[in-house]
Amino acid sequence: MTSATASSHHDWESDLEHYRSRAVHVLDTHLPAATGCTECGDPWPCARACTAELVLEL
Ligand SMILES: [Zn+2]
Repeated sequence: MTSATASSHHDWESDLEHYRSRAVHVLDTHLPAATGCTECGDPWPCARACTAELVLEL
């Protein structure tokens, strides 16, 4: 991944930081258990955990 500054300076980086910190929090609370997600009870991986992992991939 390149850290070179893009020609157009946008708030994208700070937005991304915001999403990432939220994603980390989600992954901290939505944990796999035998019955499914410990937080929302959906079959693991739950939608929120999937989305959080997607955000951290960015
Ligand atoms: Zn969950």
